[in-house]
Amino acid sequence: MKKFTAVFLAALMALGCASSSNINFNPGTYQGVAPGFNGDITMEVTVDAGRILNVRVVSQNDTPEISGLAYERIPAAIVAGQTLAVDVVSGATYSSQGIINAVSAALEKSGVDIAALKTRRPVAAAAARSSKKESYDIVVIGAGGAGMAAAIAAQQAGSRVVVLEKMPRAGGNTIISGAAYNAADPGRQASIPMNAANRAAIQEMISKTPHDAFEAELQQTIRRQFAEFTSSGKTGLFDSPEWHMIQTYNGGDYVADPEMVRTFGANALSALEWEISMGMQFTPDIFTVLGALWPRSHRPVMPLGTGYITTDLNYIEQHKDMITLLVDTKATELITSGGRVTGVKAEGPGVNYEFTARKAVVIATGGFAANKELRQKYNTQWPNLDSAGTTNHPGATGDGLVLAEKVGANFVGMDYVQLLPMGDPATGSLSGNIEQGVEDRFFVNKSGNRFVDEGARRDVMTLALFEQQDAYMWVICDKHSYPTPQTKNNFNETIEELIQQGRAFGADTIEELAAKINVPAANLRAAVAEFNAGVDAGRDKWGRTLWRIKIDTPPYYAGARIPTVHHTMGGIQINTRAQVLNTRGQVIPGLYACGETTGGIHGSNRLGGNALADIHVFGRIAGTNAAAERP
Ligand code: ADP
Repeated sequence: MKKFTAVFLAALMALGCASSSNINFNPGTYQGVAPGFNGDITMEVTVDAGRILNVRVVSQNDTPEISGLAYERIPAAIVAGQTLAVDVVSGATYSSQGIINAVSAALEKSGVDIAALKTRRPVAAAAARSSKKESYDIVVIGAGGAGMAAAIAAQQAGSRVVVLEKMPRAGGNTIISGAAYNAADPGRQASIPMNAANRAAIQEMISKTPHDAFEAELQQTIRRQFAEFTSSGKTGLFDSPEWHMIQTYNGGDYVADPEMVRTFGANALSALEWEISMGMQFTPDIFTVLGALWPRSHRPVMPLGTGYITTDLNYIEQHKDMITLLVDTKATELITSGGRVTGVKAEGPGVNYEFTARKAVVIATGGFAANKELRQKYNTQWPNLDSAGTTNHPGATGDGLVLAEKVGANFVGMDYVQLLPMGDPATGSLSGNIEQGVEDRFFVNKSGNRFVDEGARRDVMTLALFEQQDAYMWVICDKHSYPTPQTKNNFNETIEELIQQGRAFGADTIEELAAKINVPAANLRAAVAEFNAGVDAGRDKWGRTLWRIKIDTPPYYAGARIPTVHHTMGGIQINTRAQVLNTRGQVIPGLYACGETTGGIHGSNRLGGNALADIHVFGRIAGTNAAAERP
């Protein structure tokens, strides 16, 4: 009897406390609707009297590369666990929650006790963990853009590679980024006219007193290049790797490592062409992404950063004999032997791994903008980041720093945390941003007044935003940015759906727009007039230099934005070969790092569009050099 009671109780516990409550359905098939990341999700459930038999997606509009896994895993988990208390898929939280909500709405129609289903614990199979040892030439930690570039470059240099990714899918921040890629690319920039403001910006930079020898050297080169350009009579935009370097170095307050900036600028275009050679596609128009300071941003054809990751995953699939990608596998420790890094310990699904790296380990774990504790620990620049949102995916927790610190790595620039003035007021994410390019929009505060050069550095714009009422602003643009209601922003959202969701406003007159966003009409009218006068003059009282077309064609649009934590410029110190340095400036044998986990490339402020170039340039360098190590 005692034994029976114990078995009965165990079974009851396995089913969860709610199993004794009313889990009865009116048999049938029901549909429910709830908002997802990108509009409504419709789900369909089929139930008999006591069980959920099937859960099916009827329609949804989320980005497959980002949310696809949620649509695979969550319906299956609901059926397997007979519960609505299922885990969201990391990195696809909104879609996950939307799916659960839509299924709940459907199940509600079956008369079931929804509250009981939401608390019912799934039957968990307690599986024992096994141990596994595997050996590769190179172990790459992190499957964002940097890690993928490193893995591919290493394979192209003849190495066998494993890439470890702790999240359920590859992509990291790269896949959800704005995805603009900066490179001086005069061929593709030729159709952009060189205007007076562009000339003045170059003149100013090459005539100023240099900060140091590196800047003096760059100025000298640019003077020669610009003289040649001027005498050639070319009308297209001037650009060069050195002009990109000096803007990067100056825009980061000269605290970057000059040799890292040089390597970055010199290789940005070749790394772009390398990615294109694997199938990556960019639109023909070069633009200026927020805080890029110059029109050298390349815009992917696919939304967000999905193009890069799709390209990399396709390549890896075609070379799967040489590159293994393991998702849901978190690196927990570096293995060392005689001062050399020789492998990685990791936790996979049910498996404790020990990976031997015959040649080298590459850390490519991204930044720490999603780690509030680390953010607070290092931030000295911003008022308080405790409650600030982030544009980052939840895996951006700085794991690489912890791994590297234990083997003596040095960190640089840790207090340089980048915020953007472009966060969604509800989530902090970049989605819902209505700007299409710096030249074609301006900002106003809650009083309808402009308050900053909207083509300035990101830190300058964000600090100015913090000084406005509620640190809240509106991005203003017009039909030039959205020729039709179906025109999409860079996040795969049409202006029409943003308006429907209440995340943007559209109007046929400035007065009407002012009323919709609750700012004084006279001020908004004056702000538009001031902007349009700036387009004619090429300058304004805020010092803005990036102009293109007047905002004069209805519909006019407005979208709200707040400051949000975006990028961590500091991190592991590497040299130009992407080797990790210790606190005495010496190379740690067998250890490379690349991407946002590293520091020293961007200085105190990263130019918009420079991250995608950075991760590809140094990812490629890390992979190539790691592959050249002798086992
Ligand atoms: P980057 O732009 O530098 O490539 P991303 O954020 O795009 O940075 O990619 C970093 C990737 O590293 C993310 O996919 C993240 O989930 C992954 N990652 C972070 N920490 C670990 C870890 N401990 N083990 C495995 N993968 C990790």
